[in-house]
Amino acid sequence: MIEKSFKNAGPCAGVSRRKLITGTCTLLGACVMGSPVSAWFFSESSGSEDIRGHIFKHDAPEKLWKWHKKAKYQKSLANRRTACGICPNRCVLAPGDRSVCRSRVNMDGTLYSLAYGAACAVHVDPVEKKPLYHFKPRTTAFSIAATGCSFRCLNCQNWQISQVRPEDVRHYDMFPEQVVKGAMDASAASVAYTYSEATTWFEYMTDTARLAREAGLSNLYISNGYINPKPLDELCGLIDAANVNLKSFSDKIYRKLNGGRLKPVLNTFMTMNRRGVHFEMTNLVVPGYVDDPDMVKRMCAWIVETLGPDHPLHFLRFFPQYRLDRLAPTPVATLTKFRDIAMSEGIHYVYVGNVPGHPGNNTWCHNCGKLLIERRGYNIPVYNIKNGRCAFCNTVIPGVWS
Ligand code: SF4
Repeated sequence: MIEKSFKNAGPCAGVSRRKLITGTCTLLGACVMGSPVSAWFFSESSGSEDIRGHIFKHDAPEKLWKWHKKAKYQKSLANRRTACGICPNRCVLAPGDRSVCRSRVNMDGTLYSLAYGAACAVHVDPVEKKPLYHFKPRTTAFSIAATGCSFRCLNCQNWQISQVRPEDVRHYDMFPEQVVKGAMDASAASVAYTYSEATTWFEYMTDTARLAREAGLSNLYISNGYINPKPLDELCGLIDAANVNLKSFSDKIYRKLNGGRLKPVLNTFMTMNRRGVHFEMTNLVVPGYVDDPDMVKRMCAWIVETLGPDHPLHFLRFFPQYRLDRLAPTPVATLTKFRDIAMSEGIHYVYVGNVPGHPGNNTWCHNCGKLLIERRGYNIPVYNIKNGRCAFCNTVIPGVWS
């Protein structure tokens, strides 16, 4: 079993050396005006608390290192500026600047990723850990991360790798071919792009996913869902399953807690639904931020109405983390209540995570109510799904079971 990760730098490593530019939306808009940018590039509005435009001025290295790749979805602007079209932050970088996600730089008018082949975390995980409860249970996923994130979540679990530059952490020399070999050697069923925000190392993820698919492996995208339509369209052709965070159902909370926006995430769910990608949703219940029952009710009603009742929803218990290290853990009663709300709104499979022994760890047939999968940690002592159907009443259980 491979279990390795390198985390040797704090979230603010190097920041004092940088000039963090908190450019306003107005300024960003002014930069764009008169530039040859297509309409698709700037279709979302931004609020005052999101991080769009918070780029790192003059923070690019003097020269490219080995782990670089010319960035996809870039647009050349006047004065050798470049714009990134991967995520709704839509960074606009002058030569020598570094992106919001810290892994992309403008080198003399061309945008490069510095995270290509630079895996800073490599683990073999049960697929249930992602969490994916309705996708090839009892298999393992060869899980990789490079540094970078498009959000600034106050409660980030992996800030040591998500909120740093590629140069700030030790990493493996692990290009796509080596990732696939590692997965095959570990007898994993899948490769998971996880831990940090894989969207920000899009080139590394997609090149690996192509090779993985050729080798008969599945591809798992574990993400905040903050991705623009064109790269998402490409990605949907490569992934087999996703777990996407629905961090709240409030744009205001998204801005405050995560530094992002709600609408693009909802768009991601709708696109994946339309494309037939198997996805599950995760909602981390952060006390004081994401624990309003009315909001949960509205969120679940939207899910059922827009995406249908069959995509599993995971409510996860929060534990003190990062900048919210003084908050208490989520009360278990809150999670139980939210599960009840979601089920009464019509979602068929609703789980409670990070609470050992809770009935919401298990899968219960939405038709007959019998126990289909019992989970104890990542072990599965009871398994009553046969050929994708309930072993008791023969109802089709949504998911990918073999
Ligand atoms: S992927 Fe990174 S560089 Fe591209 S828009 Fe998002 S934050 Fe900016």
